[in-house]
Amino acid sequence: MEYDLAERVKKVQPSATLGITTLAKAMKADGIDVIGLGAGEPDFDTPDHIKEAAAEAIREGFTKYTPVGGTNELKDAVIEKFERDNGLSYDRAQIFVSCGAKHSIYNLFQALCGPGDEVIVPAPYWLSYPDQVCLAGATPVIVETTEAESFRLSADRLREAITGATRILVLNSPSNPTGAAYPRDELEKIAEIAIEKDILILSDEIYESIVYDGFTSMSIASLGDEVKARTLVVNGVSKTYAMTGWRIGYFAADASIAAAVNKIQGHSTSNPTSIAQRAAVAAITGPQEAVAEMTAAFAGRRDALLDRFSRIPGVTCYKPQGAFYLFPRVSAYYGKQYGGKSVAGSGDMANYLLEEAQVAVVPGGAFGADDCIRISYAASMESLNEGLDRIEEALSRLKT
Ligand code: PMP
Ligand code: GLU
Repeated sequence: MEYDLAERVKKVQPSATLGITTLAKAMKADGIDVIGLGAGEPDFDTPDHIKEAAAEAIREGFTKYTPVGGTNELKDAVIEKFERDNGLSYDRAQIFVSCGAKHSIYNLFQALCGPGDEVIVPAPYWLSYPDQVCLAGATPVIVETTEAESFRLSADRLREAITGATRILVLNSPSNPTGAAYPRDELEKIAEIAIEKDILILSDEIYESIVYDGFTSMSIASLGDEVKARTLVVNGVSKTYAMTGWRIGYFAADASIAAAVNKIQGHSTSNPTSIAQRAAVAAITGPQEAVAEMTAAFAGRRDALLDRFSRIPGVTCYKPQGAFYLFPRVSAYYGKQYGGKSVAGSGDMANYLLEEAQVAVVPGGAFGADDCIRISYAASMESLNEGLDRIEEALSRLKT
């Protein structure tokens, strides 16, 4: 039987990042020797003191509903984090906790935009932004950025993209998938335009702690009260503390926006898991050494991979300032053949690498940049080396 699905669902695609991650894990479970470089999740285990806080919550019976937008204990921890890491002051009414940062962003679009509204999304983008905007009934306006511009949205391009219907600009620094991060002077220019044109900024800072070569992440909201008032700062524990499965993300914004989201979440998921909230408190307020250790490991892997890619003919690769992805341009291989089939774009390339080399990567097309593929280096050095050996060999087998 064919079911008549809602229009909203016909406009969106399944999440390619989650799809490829699931496929690679299933192939591994079936005994296939696949190297998974698709998943955007740290390969490290959640630190023990965080797990222990969750175990203690269970033992204590902290297993009931909590307030919809998170416990006061977790909100206070988040307030402390914003002060400590970003120099931003908020009160409890401005903090809202959801089931992952993805859920926070989804809720914010639902609360703030709808038919007739435009949301500016610089490309390459994390693939859920445009689809979440569509699910809210609004229109994503994709603005290309190039490698030559360090994959950052310039003031000129932003001005060109703004119309009378623009409601929100999405900023993601450091970025998934490029790893590009915005320095202060560029954030200042964007803030100035947002104030002048009266638009909101959704600042997704989930990779803020994973930065390299002395780069310091900065929240655009910290540039002044005017820009802070129009910024929705999104963050979470998934990446910083290797807690992707725990599903805790949060945002800070004006209290009226948090109250609006409270209505949406109160009629959908209710509170995020009580046990995970306790774990998040331990993560945010506990020892932070593991964060630096994980980042140091990511830095070493980034450098090793950049070196490997620089030696593959025809491939160029932007050097990221943060996050744990490389976004190599592989389009020099498009149009080449294997076994009678042609590699026409990033989707074919990802399929080719999976089928012929058993390496899972995400096609750049899913991020709005078909010339590239995304490699996650949240994998062991051994897997990365083996994965790169296989990619190099597979590319060399493609024939014109
Ligand atoms: N933003 C970006 C840029 C991401 O890459 C992710 C990846 N999961 C998220 C938000 C959402 O993270 P989570 O829902 O696990 O907090
Ligand atoms: N954000 C990660 C990624 O891009 C995890 C999957 C997802 O939530 O999209 O791979």
